Amino acid sequence: MNGRLLQTLAREHGTPLVIIDHEVIRRNYATFKRRLPKVQAYFAVKANPAAEIIRTLYDAGASFDVASFPEFLAVYENIKRLPAKQRQDFIWDKIIYANPIKPKETLQALDEYKPLITYDNIDELRKIKRYAPHAGLVLRLRVPNTGSMVELSSKFGCDASEAVDLILEGFKAGLVVEGLSFHVGSQCTNFENFVHALNIAAAVMEEARSRGREIKILDIGGGFPVPYDSHVKPFSLLAKKIAAEIDRLFAPDIEILAEPGRFLVATAATAVARVIGKTFRDGRTCYYVDDSVYHTFSGIVFDHCQYRIHTFKKGEPEICTVFGQTCDGMDVIAQAEQLPPLDIEDLVYSKDIGAYSSASSTWFNGFAPAKIVHVNR
Ligand SMILES: *Cc1c(COP(=O)(O)O)cnc(C)c1O
Repeated sequence: MNGRLLQTLAREHGTPLVIIDHEVIRRNYATFKRRLPKVQAYFAVKANPAAEIIRTLYDAGASFDVASFPEFLAVYENIKRLPAKQRQDFIWDKIIYANPIKPKETLQALDEYKPLITYDNIDELRKIKRYAPHAGLVLRLRVPNTGSMVELSSKFGCDASEAVDLILEGFKAGLVVEGLSFHVGSQCTNFENFVHALNIAAAVMEEARSRGREIKILDIGGGFPVPYDSHVKPFSLLAKKIAAEIDRLFAPDIEILAEPGRFLVATAATAVARVIGKTFRDGRTCYYVDDSVYHTFSGIVFDHCQYRIHTFKKGEPEICTVFGQTCDGMDVIAQAEQLPPLDIEDLVYSKDIGAYSSASSTWFNGFAPAKIVHVNR
């Protein structure tokens, strides 16, 4: 997004500000569909739950991955007015509830929608049988997350060796196991993770078939990486690898879905903050800005993400530290950034901050989350 527009919006709305460009979201979705035409994208709402984003992606043709009942309703309320088909087909086409662990109240609330939900252990299966017997099931597999920025395999997914037993247990309980899913870890820059995971899923499907159960859905999860820096290999390369493995390993009538979160929204947002303090300490200039790691920059803590800081001002860059606005010592946005000399009231900005950022913003220390502005060109 161009600098002039960012400054104009910051002047108009004040800071801290997050600007979301919906044209970029539409472009990211189109890229995903173009490179993986056989894969239906279920946007992982937790990456950025703004209702405006849900509507933009719905209009573009996306479906949704939700991980809590409020997220389910946020999607359902935004799309239910357009039911083209019978309700259950429609919901399955549009929503998967992909949090493998669900409190019983959530299962009870979900059941009337006959949702598609994931599980990865026998206790969850018993809960589903009791509280959401009308759900369709997807078994989450544990797959290697090697080198991914956010690792998920220690928390979720059954071992391949127990998978078929869990599938058979599901049918024995009178439920229907429709699919398999996995997640290779968020911001997965090691593309071999996808290759391994697809091979694991294919082997499980084959074994299930040999024991009399046909699995119809393959959910390849999220993890599609964003080019935060130049080391990230292009998505086109990953898509080629995935498409080739899918063609090689799975029957053409298997329904394939994915749950991209970060990939669809990260590059669509820019955060603008204002310098509110300045000092010289330990040999370098320190700036204090009116956003923080408890707010838009929460991804530094929860997402293991580092954002570059940019300025509108030109000048000789010097090493400096950028602190957040809160009174907490851990609230450091950049320990060593290269910026031209800045004055109080100057604006700074960070790009590619649309995923796992405002989504996990808090009210810590009395500071409100940044205002969000949607640009829909
Ligand atoms: C968070 C999450 C996603 C999205 O992951 P990204 O790395 O942002 O693409 C997808 N599926 C599940 C089950 C998740 O928990």
